Amino acid sequence: MPDSPVTAAESADVVIVGARCAGAATAVTLARAGHHVIVLDAATLPSDTLSTHLLWPAGLAELHRLGARTAVEALGAPRLSHAYAAGAGYGITSTFPAVDGIDYALCVRRTGLDDVLVRTAITAGADVRQRCRVTDLLWSGNRCAGVRYTDSTGTVTEISTGLVVGADGRHSTVATLAGAAQPYHTVPSGRDCYYAYWRDTTGLPRDTAAQWRAGADLGTAFPCDDGLILSLVQPPTASGRTGPTAAERRYTAAIARIPELAARLDGCHRIGRVRAATGLASYFRRSTGPGWALPGDAGHFKDPVTAQGIRDALRYGRLLGEAAADHLTDADALDRALRAWERRRVVECRAIFHWTNRLARGEAMRPMEIELYRRAAADPALAQLATGIFTRTNAPGELYAPRRAAQLAFGALRHHPDTPAALRDIASEIRTGTRDAITTHTVLRGAPPTHPAAPAPDRPAPRSELRATLTVSPNPDRRAPAADDR
Ligand SMILES: Cc1cc2nc3c(=O)[nH]c(=O)nc-3n(C[C@H](O)[C@H](O)[C@H](O)COP(=O)(O)OP(=O)(O)OC[C@H]3O[C@@H](n4cnc5c(N)ncnc54)[C@H](O)[C@@H]3O)c2cc1C
Repeated sequence: MPDSPVTAAESADVVIVGARCAGAATAVTLARAGHHVIVLDAATLPSDTLSTHLLWPAGLAELHRLGARTAVEALGAPRLSHAYAAGAGYGITSTFPAVDGIDYALCVRRTGLDDVLVRTAITAGADVRQRCRVTDLLWSGNRCAGVRYTDSTGTVTEISTGLVVGADGRHSTVATLAGAAQPYHTVPSGRDCYYAYWRDTTGLPRDTAAQWRAGADLGTAFPCDDGLILSLVQPPTASGRTGPTAAERRYTAAIARIPELAARLDGCHRIGRVRAATGLASYFRRSTGPGWALPGDAGHFKDPVTAQGIRDALRYGRLLGEAAADHLTDADALDRALRAWERRRVVECRAIFHWTNRLARGEAMRPMEIELYRRAAADPALAQLATGIFTRTNAPGELYAPRRAAQLAFGALRHHPDTPAALRDIASEIRTGTRDAITTHTVLRGAPPTHPAAPAPDRPAPRSELRATLTVSPNPDRRAPAADDR
């Protein structure tokens, strides 16, 4: 091993890098199964992070499974019993299809939400350490066998372990050090994100998660905890200046272009600055290798436009814990379980991935979509089906099943004033559907390509010999996905 300033060494059954949604869910599950789990996070906790935070019923169901829902609800966010979507002159109100008996959404700021998750992990028995940044992975042959981290005092510690979980977000250090940072499938977003909080003094009902489309703009208003409204706008991506002034200008301009959103915020008072996330891309990364796995954004990310990330980070964090819990002493069985877990996430997420990428195109509503809104505004069952896509109780394919797709196409031709535009859109839908199907049946079929940095599983050195045989990660790929967050 090269000379290093390592001043402490220990071991654990599992080391989890990142203590928020994915990390906490994995930690809770493995600690409850009786394993010695150490969770390391570079941040001071509790703290905010760059993320809005709408939780559909499926996200709340995941919190419930972790035993965290009651504490999250106690943070005081109003139950959102209705979804509202408006565009092209049509307004659609719907209730939520229930998931595990939960038929409402919730919007809880991340400081409180993540704090509940961390406390749940600690109560389950996990050793959660904040202000600890993981800088290297340790390897035994080509098997990941530990981490090296630096704490807030500058102490450098190595932990040897049978499983390293990279729950460290989009710019994942673990993905980079494992050679998996480059996604094997990625789709750039056509939209930027700007959001801020507003104190809601209007007295208007606070029971609806609302989204408006106007031209190519998209804006939302979600009542959240502490009497606030979270309002996110997603205009088409813009080039040019970045920074706080540009974010403020683009946020304000986008709201002005969405009159119904401006009307909802009229009389509310802005709290704090505008936050921006630009240069986003949705992706799948290779998410497992010998001794390592990437739940949450570290392995898979979808544009925020469909608000799926927290639910998926919780769900696949929990499922990773369940998959690994019985195999931590058997490397081959563990790696098989990890691969099956990764495949399951790809299979379960690919349809919503395609659907999200459609909504992230950053364009005005097309004729087929307008026709969908027109029909759903008068058809509660169709409205609930569309809402069910966001709650993951319905698949996007149900909306575009052949019969309904034909109805939408004929309706678009009949009702849209610009027939050539409707025809172009129908042709484009066929092309997009075909392309997505091909992608699903090739790239996203559930068997991600083997990355050269993580070849076939290799049996690890026995624990007693591990310290002598560990090597520090050569950091094969320092590249991170393009993103420009402020
Ligand atoms: C603008 C925006 C809006 C969004 N809105 C929504 C929404 O409304 N609803 C929704 O469901 N999802 C939303 N998402 C997605 C959601 O934020 C993510 O999917 C979710 O946070 C993923 O959780 P995670 O645990 O994987 O990662 P994160 O929440 O990113 O947590 C990663 C943790 O890892 C730690 N870490 C990183 N590197 C290291 C290291 N080297 N050592 C130690 N610790 C490290 C970080 O400090 C951090 O605490 C949004 C995302 C964005 C960008």
